[in-house]
Amino acid sequence: MKLGASIFPRKLIPIEESLDYFESNRYIDYMEIFHDYPNREINDEKELIDLINSYNLKYTVHAPFIEVNPASINPALSKDSINEIKRSIDLANELDSDIVVIHPGRSIFDNDNEYMDEVYAIAEDSLKTIGDYAKDNGVITCIENLPKIRGFMYQDIYQLQESLERINLPMTLDIGHAYTAGFAVDDLYFKNIKHIHIHDNDGVHDSHLPWGEGIIDFKRFFEIFSKNGYDGIYNLELSSKDYVEKSIQYLKGLKLI
Ligand SMILES: [Zn+2]
Repeated sequence: MKLGASIFPRKLIPIEESLDYFESNRYIDYMEIFHDYPNREINDEKELIDLINSYNLKYTVHAPFIEVNPASINPALSKDSINEIKRSIDLANELDSDIVVIHPGRSIFDNDNEYMDEVYAIAEDSLKTIGDYAKDNGVITCIENLPKIRGFMYQDIYQLQESLERINLPMTLDIGHAYTAGFAVDDLYFKNIKHIHIHDNDGVHDSHLPWGEGIIDFKRFFEIFSKNGYDGIYNLELSSKDYVEKSIQYLKGLKLI
C-alpha cells in the first residue's frame, strides 16, 4: 500500500519539520506539497526546492484553490486561475512529481441556477487547458471531487466522472468529501481514479479527522479498491502528527500495514 501525507500547515509547523517527520515515518513514502498561501512562492525559493529534493521522499503537489477558481465566469479571473495552476505543474517538474491535484472550481450560484450549465462548461474548458499543459510537461492532473459546502462544484462524483470522461482526465477521489455529499463507500470506485485523499468525518462536516474517528467504513473501502487493483497513493490529508499517528494505528488495526 502506497501511503502519502499532506504537508502540515506551514504557519504551525515549519516545512523542514514536516519533511523530517515524514522521512522518519517508515509508513509514509510520499508527501503532498500544498502549493497555496503561504507556500505559493516555493517555485522561486531555489534553496527550499533543493532542500525538499534532498529528502528521501517522493512528492505530489496540491494546486492552489483558496482564491483560485478555474470555473470563474469572469474570463480574466479564470485565465489567471489557469496560470496559477500551471505554476503547480511547473513545481511538480522541479520536484520530479507525477501527480498534481486540482480543485475544479466553485460558483456563487446554486447548482440548479440557470447559469450553472455555462459555469460547468467554463470549468471543463479550463481543466482541459490545464490538462493539456500538464500532458506536455509529463505530469498527470487529477481533478478532485469537492465537499458539501455551498458554492463548491462537483460534489457529485458521478457528475465529475462524466466531465472527466469528456475531457479525458483522471480523478483524485477524496473519500471524506464524497461522504459529506452522501456517497457510501460502495459508490466510490472508478477506473479513472489515479490518486486518493483519505480522512474521516461524521457524514456532515468536512472535518478531516484521523481514520477511525468518524463513521466512514474504511475496511470496506480498502477491500473495494484493492479488489479492483487500485495501485495509486492513499494520501492522508490531515493537519497534525497526532492525527497521522492515529490513522497509522488504525490501519495497523485493520492489518493493512
Ligand atoms: Zn482532498
